[in-house]
Amino acid sequence: MTFNQLKLSEKVLAAIEAAGYTTPTPIQAQAIPVALEGRDVVGIAQTGTGKTASFVLPLLTMLEKGRARARMPRSLILEPTRELAAQVAEAIEALGSQHKLTVALLIGGVSFDDQERKLERGADILIATPGRLLDHFGRGKLLMSAVDYLVIDEADRMLDMGFIPDIERICKLLPPTRQTLFFSATMPPEIQKLTEQFLRNPEQIRVSAPATTAKLITQKLKFSPADSKMKRHVLRELIRSEVGAVKNAIIFCNRKRDVAVLHKSLVKHGFNAAALHGDLDQRQRMATLEGFRKGEITYLAASDVAARGLDIPDVSHIFNFDVPISPEDYVHRIGRTGRAGREGYTAMIVTPKEMKALAAIESLTKAKIEWIDGEPSTENLAQADFSERRERGRRGRGKGEREERKEAAPRQPQSQQQAPQQAPQQQAEVRAFSGKSRRRDKDSSVSRYHRELLPPATSAPVVGLGEHVPEFLKRPVRAAS
Ligand code: AMP
Repeated sequence: MTFNQLKLSEKVLAAIEAAGYTTPTPIQAQAIPVALEGRDVVGIAQTGTGKTASFVLPLLTMLEKGRARARMPRSLILEPTRELAAQVAEAIEALGSQHKLTVALLIGGVSFDDQERKLERGADILIATPGRLLDHFGRGKLLMSAVDYLVIDEADRMLDMGFIPDIERICKLLPPTRQTLFFSATMPPEIQKLTEQFLRNPEQIRVSAPATTAKLITQKLKFSPADSKMKRHVLRELIRSEVGAVKNAIIFCNRKRDVAVLHKSLVKHGFNAAALHGDLDQRQRMATLEGFRKGEITYLAASDVAARGLDIPDVSHIFNFDVPISPEDYVHRIGRTGRAGREGYTAMIVTPKEMKALAAIESLTKAKIEWIDGEPSTENLAQADFSERRERGRRGRGKGEREERKEAAPRQPQSQQQAPQQAPQQQAEVRAFSGKSRRRDKDSSVSRYHRELLPPATSAPVVGLGEHVPEFLKRPVRAAS
C-alpha cells in the first residue's frame, strides 16, 4: 500500500514526501479512506502507531475547500494535555506545509489575548484542550456552529484526567452534522458510551497496541532489593551498562516528588539530565521538551504526564524507575521507544513490593519480561523484604517516625491537639504510641515532640487552654483610657 492509493490531495502527498514517509502505517491505511468518505471513525490505537497523521492528512485534504470566518473555526482537535496539543500543532505545521490554512492553538498557561486575536482572524484548524476551549467559549470569543470536523484524541487519557463532562458539553455545542474522528488507546465502558452518544455509525478501526507491536522493543527487568537510594544506584548501573547505545532516554517515576529527587541525583552523578512533570509551568515544560528533542538533554526524568503522546521520534531507551501502578501505563511508557519501525530498549527496576504490579503488567501484555540477572528467587525476595522492613523499622524509630507522625497529626494549634476532643479510638492510639516513647524519651527531641502530642494525664475535661497558657497571654494588658 502506498499513500498515492489513499485519495489524499496533491498538496498533502507532496508534504508526506517532504516528511519522508514512504508507506502508510496500519492505522493510516485504514482510517484515511474512511475519513475521506466523510464517515465517523473510532480508531483504537496508541501513540507511536502514526495515528496523528491518520487524522491530520484527511483533515488537510478536506479543508482545502472553503475558508474560515472570524471566530468560527472549521475544525476542532481536542487534546488532553498542552504538550499533546502543541505536538499536533507541530505535526500540522509540517504536514500542512503546502497549505495556507490558519491554525490556532488554545491551551492553558498562555495568554488569552493572543489566542483571542487568532480566533478573531478565523481558524481553519483549532487545536485545544477542553478547559481552555470552554473558557474562550464562555467569554463569547468563539462560535462552534461552523465546525465541520471534530477530532477527539487520546480519549482514554481525557477520561483519566476527568475531562469527559467537558467533552460532552463541547460535543453538544457542535453542529450534529459534523464528522467525528475519535481516537483512544483503550475502550473502557465510559469511552464506549461516549462514542455511542456522539458518533454516527462510526467505522471502528483497531490496530495492534504497542503491547503486541512492541516486538522491536527489547524489554528487561532489573531487581532492586530496596527503594530510593538503592534504586538510584541500580538505575545508574543500568544506564552505564547501556552506555554507547543510549542516544537519549526517558526515566519514568510514579510520583512527581521522585522525579525531582531523581533529577537532582542524576545531575549530581554527572548525567546530562532534566525533569518533566506536571508541577512545572508551561514555559519550562516546553523548553525542556525542546531541549530533549534537539539532543541538548540526554536523560529526561519524567512523570506519567509526559508518558502519553510525547512525540520524540527516536527515544532510544526508556527506564522505568518505578513499576507503574496501572499496567496500561507501562504500555504507554514503553511506547515512547521503538516508534515507527525503529528499535527500542526498555528496562524496569522492580523491588519486592512491586512484584504484584509487575504481575499485572505481564498479565496485560501476555508476555513474560526477562530479568537481567535472572529472576529473583523466593529467598531473595523474602530477604530483601525482611531487610527493607527492618530498615523501615529502624528509620521509623527516628526521623521517619517523626515525619509520619507529623503527617498523621492534624494541623491544629497545639492547644487543640492537647485538648481531649479526639474520638475514643484516636485517644487510645495516641496513648499506645506515647506510652512507648515516654519510656525512652527523657532528653531526645523525639520525646519532646511526642510529649506534646500526649493527652493530659488525667481524664478530667480541660478548661480553657489547660496548663498550657501561652506566655504572650500572660503579659499585663494596659486598658485604653
Ligand atoms: P504518532 O503515533 O502519531 O505519535 O506518530 C509516531 C511517529 O511516527 C511520529 O514521529 C511520526 O512523525 C512518525 N510517522 C507517522 N506516520 C509515519 C509513516 N507513515 N512513516 C514513517 N513515520 C511515520
